[in-house]
Amino acid sequence: MKVSKHIEELMPYVPGKPIEETKREYGLDHIVKLASNESPIGVSDKVKQTIKNHINELNRYPDPSCFKLKQTVAKYLNLQTENLTFGNGSNELIDLLIRIFCKPGEKVMTSKGAFIAYKVCAQAARADFIEVPLTEDLRFDVKAIVKAVKQHQPKILFIANPNNPTGTYITEAEFTYLMQHLKKEENTLVVFDEAYNEFVRAKDYPQVTRTLSDYKNLVVIKTFSKVFGLAGLRIGAVAASPDVIALVDKVRNPFNVNTLAQVATITALEDEDYVNKARQVNWEGLDYFYNKLDQMGIKYWSSETNFILFDTHKDSSEVYEQLLKQGIILRPVKEYGFNTHLRMSVGTMDENKQAIQALKTVLK
Ligand SMILES: *Cc1c(COP(=O)(O)O)cnc(C)c1O
Repeated sequence: MKVSKHIEELMPYVPGKPIEETKREYGLDHIVKLASNESPIGVSDKVKQTIKNHINELNRYPDPSCFKLKQTVAKYLNLQTENLTFGNGSNELIDLLIRIFCKPGEKVMTSKGAFIAYKVCAQAARADFIEVPLTEDLRFDVKAIVKAVKQHQPKILFIANPNNPTGTYITEAEFTYLMQHLKKEENTLVVFDEAYNEFVRAKDYPQVTRTLSDYKNLVVIKTFSKVFGLAGLRIGAVAASPDVIALVDKVRNPFNVNTLAQVATITALEDEDYVNKARQVNWEGLDYFYNKLDQMGIKYWSSETNFILFDTHKDSSEVYEQLLKQGIILRPVKEYGFNTHLRMSVGTMDENKQAIQALKTVLK
């Protein structure tokens, strides 16, 4: 059957290798998975209790408007409920935004080395995809991006801030520069994907949601998969002008966010202890990685996320394979154009130590 070249050339998203599969294939019974930027501290006890409390509602369809959740998130982000809607993971929202705003053959833009889901979703929607080079230190190059937007007139520009897989971020000054230059480009939606927002320590990281009312073409995407530890429930949010939200609400499936995801997210947002612990464990882990990788003479990029990108100076597929044999799952990032690099999520300190030990053996 004949399909368009966008679909034919589509390289599907490759998720982190599952634990059970690795156990089977390598005959191991202990695995450390640091491949998908998941929360290493398990599920919040309060969330578990909430899920138990709502289990008897599963014969009913979920609330299609996510009414209570929307009120909670509006308060959390200091926005109006009209500025919000939700998706089955933020991945669905990326997909929806592209389907809504891009006709086949129109353009989606991001940077090289930016989150790969933008490319996969763009191709699936038969949109053309443009990548602006990163700077030498693997940061978004805002000047080059502004130029490229004016030249190519993309319908959507995606900026992951901080970015996956580089861990780098756009500063407040860079954000202001970008929006000042792009606010008149009314046909380009500027989408900030803040999946790792709560892990940021940098003082000059911009508070983008606070500026939503200043820029009509600004959109922010949030996820509950990372610091809130709900990756398996699949829930993300989009914050934007009421016009954009109305369009997303028109196109999304009415029951795209399930009952348990809705109630669990409300509890997760109120469970400050869990989030604080997740952040603390993450920052200690990152500092541990910096220290060890420095000692080992391995080049890495300082990260504002819950993972770290480093350069093995070897074919990353081989290093990845050897680590698997030792029961450590990291993430090769060749599809991003990084052939000798690996991405390693922060785990518990015990897992971090096992990963570093295995790396020492493999990279010797
Ligand atoms: C992990 C991640 C997401 C989250 O995706 P979900 O579909 O919400 O689980 C979104 N954007 C980036 C850049 C990510 O790394």
